[in-house]
Amino acid sequence: MPPRQKKRPSFELHGQKVEAGSRGKVNLPVGVFTNNTQVDLTVVVVHGRLPGPTMLVTGCIHGDEINGAEIIRRLLKLKSISRLKGTLLAVPIVNVPAFLNRSRYLPDRRDLNRLFPGSETGSLGGRLAKVVSCQLLPHADIIIDLHTGAINRPNLPQIRVTSGDDPSTELAKVFNAPVTVFAPIRDSSFRSLCHKEGKKLILFESGEALRLDAHSIKYGVQGITSVMRHCGMLAQKRTSVGKKKTDTIVCTKTYWERATIGGLFTPLIALGKTVEQGETIGFVSDPFGGTETSITATRQGVIIGRTNEGLADEGDALFHIAVFRNLDHARDQMALGNQALEEPAEMDDHPVPYDPFTEEVNPE
Ligand SMILES: [Zn+2]
Repeated sequence: MPPRQKKRPSFELHGQKVEAGSRGKVNLPVGVFTNNTQVDLTVVVVHGRLPGPTMLVTGCIHGDEINGAEIIRRLLKLKSISRLKGTLLAVPIVNVPAFLNRSRYLPDRRDLNRLFPGSETGSLGGRLAKVVSCQLLPHADIIIDLHTGAINRPNLPQIRVTSGDDPSTELAKVFNAPVTVFAPIRDSSFRSLCHKEGKKLILFESGEALRLDAHSIKYGVQGITSVMRHCGMLAQKRTSVGKKKTDTIVCTKTYWERATIGGLFTPLIALGKTVEQGETIGFVSDPFGGTETSITATRQGVIIGRTNEGLADEGDALFHIAVFRNLDHARDQMALGNQALEEPAEMDDHPVPYDPFTEEVNPE
């Protein structure tokens, strides 16, 4: 008789055991709120029956960037997750106080993403950062951190990764967001800590704060499951024959096109569109009937972020443009990416939020 396979050891977090082949919710204590209630960081641990890597997925490090929480919620609902190899540590809401306040920032107005690695004896934000750094990060082989643009400033789905970090760049390519940007690291951010610790991290940016956006959520769930397949955490998908493959377009330089004058702002171009150098992409007009000033693209590229506000002071950031030399290739890949999103996916069992920008109300 072949020897019986030994059961995979349980996963232990904060004294709580999650058996192989099961999932559990673990509350990590952080501190006490002003009303004397306990603040906990809640982690869903999915501990696969079979061994494999450990992936940490974090949402809402900025409390109002709620697409990340929805992406994680949908990820946890996928049937395939019950057959996971390895371990998933899912934290839909990292910045609990900011999430409750519907704010990007902590109650003391600090940015949690500038407080890593944190401190056990510091402010509430510092303690939160410390719990993530010391109780979760050491377990993780791969980290996917989910973000969005600010309120009224949606981002095209994009991965931000550190230049020269080849293992993370490989994962960015597997995630296959429309665009991958080599972005500089900010001091004391979660990404900078992961980089220092030699961990593989990709940061997904998509949509805007306080809004659930169908495209962003779909790209997020598909991207994470692609990385899981690549790392052996999920079974490989059968590839469909004759299907055109999309590749993320990698960019090393982005810039903001700003208002050259104050006034009412009318954008003329959507996220994901390519622009030629010198092309008019919007205009700012004098509310008193005076001049209309064109906003033109200084360099050619793809619109990866945009303000949706109809007002601009002089100097306000209007369009975030990723610079690409091969514009035709970028245009083709964007179109293919949009087609891929229309194909049915496992997550379509669950309703997708209504998107006021792309869907018609009561179509004729
Ligand atoms: Zn963010």
